[in-house]
Amino acid sequence: MSHKITLIPGDGIGPEITTAVTQLLDRTDVSIEWQEEIAGAAVAKHSGNPVRQQTLDSIVRNRTALKGPIATPIGKGFASANVELRRSLGLFANLRPVYNLPGVTTKFSDIDLVVVRENTEDLYSGLEHQVVPGVVESLKVITAAASTRIAKFAFTYATKKKRQKISAVHKANIMKMGDGLFLDSVRSVAHSFKNIEYEERIVDAACMHLVLEPTKFDVLLLPNLYGDIVSDLCAGLVGGLGLVPSANLGDELAIFEAVHGTAPDIAGQNCANPTALLLSAVLMLEHLGETKVAEQIFIALNRVLTKGKHRTRDLGGDASTHTFTEAISQEMELL
Ligand code: ATP
Repeated sequence: MSHKITLIPGDGIGPEITTAVTQLLDRTDVSIEWQEEIAGAAVAKHSGNPVRQQTLDSIVRNRTALKGPIATPIGKGFASANVELRRSLGLFANLRPVYNLPGVTTKFSDIDLVVVRENTEDLYSGLEHQVVPGVVESLKVITAAASTRIAKFAFTYATKKKRQKISAVHKANIMKMGDGLFLDSVRSVAHSFKNIEYEERIVDAACMHLVLEPTKFDVLLLPNLYGDIVSDLCAGLVGGLGLVPSANLGDELAIFEAVHGTAPDIAGQNCANPTALLLSAVLMLEHLGETKVAEQIFIALNRVLTKGKHRTRDLGGDASTHTFTEAISQEMELL
């Protein structure tokens, strides 16, 4: 079967790592027709909007997209294309599996957790205004509907994947209403899933426990902002941002992307690690039912990391993006 997939190369290291990943996928038995779209600054300069209607239409048509990171100006300028895509397409769940990879030595060797982040509201509502000069309000929006929806997603996912425990992360001691509503909504879903252990953790303490005892965690369920921050912390636990994949999922549509950003400090140098995007593509292949090829890529990647001969700079080596990708390709041929 042939799959049509929208491809957004993105900014910074995006084109380098999407090229690496599409080259590898194009050498498998899965037939993919990539339909390339641009988003971010390149389109915002024309209309002010970082995402074109034709890009949304392409993803709706294909139901699946693979996306490189897209830059968002800090403190000014156009809105985030990443947030816009997730909101416009109803991609309410952000799934970020975090686990140790072979040959990547970190303080802990048995981390296997999943971050489930609400993707559509919270402080990402985009509602900000100046009350008077020198005073700005940024509105944090929490609804029972979105909180219940992400909780149902997390508990259903945990059940399907035979996970043991969900930790809801919040700051309801301070945001008694907003985070309180999030917790109430999650609790009402947790009651129907007696098979999954449920606990609640205040976000600051959760961060400390994650750093000290990450193996005590299984599935983390968080509102949008805490989810963003905690996922980077979790990426650090397993060796860095270059290694962690993610899926943005709605009822029908899905966008797969790396957790990391555009890495402007290393863009264009052919030294970015494509692993996070490749693992996102593995998630995409599983989502498309192409589990055999997903597994082959995963095994080939693991072999390259285990052998350790070709490592990108972020993993202490000097392999270029290209060399590392070719090493994975060679391992794939041997399978
Ligand atoms: P953005 O503004 O797009 O979020 P950023 O540089 O602030 O960009 P990241 O892109 O997430 O944030 O990068 C944080 C750090 O991690 C940078 O030093 C970057 O070089 C490194 N990094 C991120 N992704 C990778 C990768 N795929 N390979 C190697 N290093 C990476």
